[in-house]
Amino acid sequence: MITINGKAAFGGIVIGKIKEFSKEKNVVRRTKITDVEAEYTRFEHARETAITQLASLYEKAVKEVGETNAAIFEVHQMMLEDDDYLDSIKNMIETQMVNAEFAVATTGDNFASIFSEMDDEYMKERAADVKDISERVIRILSGIEEASEDSEEEDPFIVVADDLAPSETIQLDRSKVLAFVTRKGSTNSHTAILARTMNIPALVCTPLDNEVDGRIAVVDGNSGKIILDPEEETIVSYEKLLKEERERKELLLRLKGQKTVTKSGKEIKLYANIGGVKDVAAVLQNDAAGIGLFRSEFLYLQSDTYPTENEQFNAYKTVAEMMAGKKVIIRTLDIGADKQIDYFNLDKEENPALGYRAVRICLDRPEIFKTQLRALYRASAYGNIAIMVPMIASLWEVQKAKELAESVKEELKTEGIAFGDVEFGIMIETPAAVMLADELAKEVDFFSIGTNDLTQYTLAIDRQNAKLDMFYDAHHPAVLRMIQMVIDSAHKAGIWAGICGELGADTTLTETFVQMGIDELSVSPAMVLPVRDKILGVE
Ligand code: PEP
Ligand code: MG
Repeated sequence: MITINGKAAFGGIVIGKIKEFSKEKNVVRRTKITDVEAEYTRFEHARETAITQLASLYEKAVKEVGETNAAIFEVHQMMLEDDDYLDSIKNMIETQMVNAEFAVATTGDNFASIFSEMDDEYMKERAADVKDISERVIRILSGIEEASEDSEEEDPFIVVADDLAPSETIQLDRSKVLAFVTRKGSTNSHTAILARTMNIPALVCTPLDNEVDGRIAVVDGNSGKIILDPEEETIVSYEKLLKEERERKELLLRLKGQKTVTKSGKEIKLYANIGGVKDVAAVLQNDAAGIGLFRSEFLYLQSDTYPTENEQFNAYKTVAEMMAGKKVIIRTLDIGADKQIDYFNLDKEENPALGYRAVRICLDRPEIFKTQLRALYRASAYGNIAIMVPMIASLWEVQKAKELAESVKEELKTEGIAFGDVEFGIMIETPAAVMLADELAKEVDFFSIGTNDLTQYTLAIDRQNAKLDMFYDAHHPAVLRMIQMVIDSAHKAGIWAGICGELGADTTLTETFVQMGIDELSVSPAMVLPVRDKILGVE
């Protein structure tokens, strides 16, 4: 048994087998295809192979465990004949011109999240089944599992990697991941943020050697360590801790359905942060009142080429519809810095965090921005969408962004395309925006404070640099004073102000934020109920 200390990026305990992350094997990549018919035929062949595999699995299982227990393989075969499932895959291949693997993976995920939201217990269980059959088809399509009949369904595992880029993390099949442990990485990176969004324990900066694949381990995200080859006694004591953790979570469930109000009756909008459509299920499960930050750049990171207007429209519309009238704040493209995308052909920069990123790219390449704005306004006809622009440093940037938004609205009007009433807000994450907050407030409907970047730029500390973690003080008085300034400026102008950076979920500051007059907090889905618990006790 060996204990290795890393840095905790997200709490929680898991016990399981380690799988060393291989950059090639684990992700379903989205690629553009040109021959729709050939792609669909490829899918059809894989589907037929899967049905044959399931039929022989059924036969084998009947002999070994009896007819009743074997029935699941019959259900799986029937699912592979389901018209809605097949239509969705076909439609995706045809209209989005994507590879069959991606169409199957996305359809599997979408159906699984719909099933898991249903009240009926039987239907809820179908979520895992639809994922199972989709994974089987993907394995066949990608040649990982030729016609193997005996392949065991893999249990979820602990992912160990040197480092994970946000684009790699977002593409991992989260139902198969128990925890992330990286040898490099920083607690403020987007990969760490994604782990929090996915509610998965995560460690960074963990000096593991290369011989860990297949070994059993305990990941303790609460104290930031991983225990390799744990002894029986250690496993038993961690199982006890796990049970206690589960009980604590269950206790919080009593807060579902309750309003988020302070003792003195002030209601705080308690929203959740997401990286894509797949996270909406967790938002609903944790009873957030809306989505306060949809990091739309993850749609771009998952793709091999610029997502089209329609692809984006479909994603935004799905989220808006799933949230059924609750607020969905979608942040416009925020790439650059650690979020690099090959097809943008961005130059290598000396200081990428201070470079060509976010709104700067959008204003410099308005065709990209306008495609996104068109998709956003079109989707706004299907729910309660708000638009938020990141990395604002000057007044003219807001004015220019609004001008482009107006021109998109005019185009849609001329084309007779419907759109809703959309709130337009900005992120406050540069010290310049804080200092100009009173002027900026006159231009927009709301402010959302991005404390991750605001801390980085205020303290002059690269949030990616693990060596500086001890200096990256999110409670720094300079940052807290800035938050107060922003809230005051917002209120003077009659608009609301929230926090969507990670600090919003820091329950040791909840009371301070409420006293500062914060109107909204947007946190990772798993933190919604703990933050609600805190707010309910605040004067
Ligand atoms: C932030 O900077 O606080 C923020 C919410 O945005 P991101 O972490 O994606 O840069
Ligand atoms: Mg930011």
